[in-house]
Amino acid sequence: MGYGGGQKVVLITGCSSGIGLRIAVTLAKDEKKRYHVIATMRDLKKKDKLVEAAGDAYGKTLMLLPLDVCSDESVEQCINSVKDRHIDILINNAGVGLLGPVESISIEEMKRVFETNFFGVVRMIKEVMPDMKKRRSGHIVVMSSVMGLQGVVFNDVYTASKFAMEGFCESMAVQLLKFNVRLSMIEPGPVHTEFETKMMEDVAKMEYPGVDADTVRYFKDVYLPSSIDIFEAMGQTPEDIAKCTKKVIE
Ligand code: NDP
Repeated sequence: MGYGGGQKVVLITGCSSGIGLRIAVTLAKDEKKRYHVIATMRDLKKKDKLVEAAGDAYGKTLMLLPLDVCSDESVEQCINSVKDRHIDILINNAGVGLLGPVESISIEEMKRVFETNFFGVVRMIKEVMPDMKKRRSGHIVVMSSVMGLQGVVFNDVYTASKFAMEGFCESMAVQLLKFNVRLSMIEPGPVHTEFETKMMEDVAKMEYPGVDADTVRYFKDVYLPSSIDIFEAMGQTPEDIAKCTKKVIE
């Protein structure tokens, strides 16, 4: 993969929608053309929204690569496709949500959340870290959440995955500092993306065997409507988070 000199190479995970898509477009359209963006997504068939939003930047300051953060092989292949495996800034954005009473959620579904939100980040950091340490430069950014700092009812597993990631990253940040590699975490509150829609679709299919009636009632009649209200009232836009991310890496 070729790109012009002088630009920082930024690799972003999960760019098919939402925050990742917007960060990719914002950086690719940087007025000073400071970034060469490698926007990744697990299914390149979903690229149209990003390509359209990137406009002229596509093929110039923005390129695409396939990447599934849950697969060792995909992560390795992706980083090997980057010229000299040289990445200046890694933005770990890919993530999945999970909502509902714990009794209604299978261990397999819980593992999928950890596989993406925790091990997905660990896999990426392990892959780029040796080169960054060798060059004694680099910046790793992780999209955590306010739920990485504070437990929230019915978000038990998602919260746990973000807490785990926060713990890992806080420890790593100290180790990386002496190699002049920075690690930053961004902790947004609610953001209007497909994230919420996907979770609500899963909730619509949810079954409640063995869950006590009070918990089901509280979840469906109190928690869900109030969480939708909170999203409506407080939700930020992906553009807000993209601007914040740009400030963090500048
Ligand atoms: P979206 O659902 O819009 O985007 C999530 C992205 O992650 C998609 O591109 C999705 O790809 C990708 N993804 C999921 N699994 C994988 C995988 N295994 N490998 C590669 N990519 C994957 O949600 P957001 O943009 O809102 O979420 C982005 C990040 O922001 C997440 O880490 C989330 O936890 C965090 N966040 C979101 C908040 C919100 O309210 N929206 C609040 C706080 C933090 P695909 O299309 O293939 O599914």
